[in-house]
Amino acid sequence: MQVAKDKVVAIDYVLTGPEGEVLDSSEGREPLAYLHGNGNIIPGLEQALEGHAEGDKLDVTVKPEEGYGQRDDAMIQTVTRDMFEGADKIEPGMRFNAMSNHGPRIVTVTGVEGDNITVDANHPLAGVTLKFAVEIKDVREATGEELEHGHVHTGDGHDHEDGHDHE
Ligand code: ZN
Repeated sequence: MQVAKDKVVAIDYVLTGPEGEVLDSSEGREPLAYLHGNGNIIPGLEQALEGHAEGDKLDVTVKPEEGYGQRDDAMIQTVTRDMFEGADKIEPGMRFNAMSNHGPRIVTVTGVEGDNITVDANHPLAGVTLKFAVEIKDVREATGEELEHGHVHTGDGHDHEDGHDHE
């Protein structure tokens, strides 16, 4: 079966950055399953997989505009320490969930000066050219429920970041 809109595709992948450093990988985990053509994965990778079939291996280079976007300096902000309820120690590199105008976001602390904390809400991979080594492990039809929800349901419970309920 070929990768096409509304098929469930399972891939093994290794993601490396510009210096060849491994940023993410499915190694030691189940292949990543996603619903093709529904914006579940970054556009550059989704487009590259289109038309391929189970067993295919491909190397895909994804530019930031087809990946996690360009970095936006407007997403770097300085806030006061009292914004971080319940965190006794705040250090650069720490990540927090924060509510923004665009909904919940993960922010990374990039600077601490007294009570002033600088946070960056850019995606950690924004502005980065990504290289994926992908192997397509499986392509199957989606279930009606998966199509309705726009994402994959795996056998062992659901990964539902949007918090919806299946019962
Ligand atoms: Zn669902």
